[in-house]
Amino acid sequence: MALTDLNPLIEKAKELGSLEVGFLSASEVVVAHWVRLKCMFGCPDYGKFRTCPPYTPDAEEMKRILSEYNQVMLIKTTSHDKATEIVAKLMGWLYSQGEFKAFPLGSGRCRLCQECDIENCRSPHMAYPSMEACSIDVFETIRRVGWSREERSPEGDFLHYGAVLLW
Ligand code: SF4
Repeated sequence: MALTDLNPLIEKAKELGSLEVGFLSASEVVVAHWVRLKCMFGCPDYGKFRTCPPYTPDAEEMKRILSEYNQVMLIKTTSHDKATEIVAKLMGWLYSQGEFKAFPLGSGRCRLCQECDIENCRSPHMAYPSMEACSIDVFETIRRVGWSREERSPEGDFLHYGAVLLW
């Protein structure tokens, strides 16, 4: 199934706080092995959160997952937390519309708890991995919808990105 009219989804994303949305075919999402290397070395959160490597799909697995989707929605907003919250809520909305396959990918590590309980997540309905935790090259992927990593919000804030694998 695929929503024939994307406008309600776009409106929902904006209502939830997305500054802009973009759409890509799933085959245009850029997946790279080096992204996981950045998680493994240089990131203090590696292995400490359920939503981070090594618990998330590596590049090969992510390519296989993406091959089962046709379309991906990207959103941009002003914080890691907001990006993950928006895509998690969009998934909930899509589910209510009968789009059961939709899956959210947020930004950064999960920030819902100070210390993660990897075996027994306290908020499984809001704790989703980031794009980068799934080996997605975020900056190259957003470039494909015409966005730039140099862009800032009207207030001068850094921008953060999320994705929803749609159908
Ligand atoms: S909600 Fe808490 S327990 Fe679950 S992944 Fe996030 S930090 Fe870990």
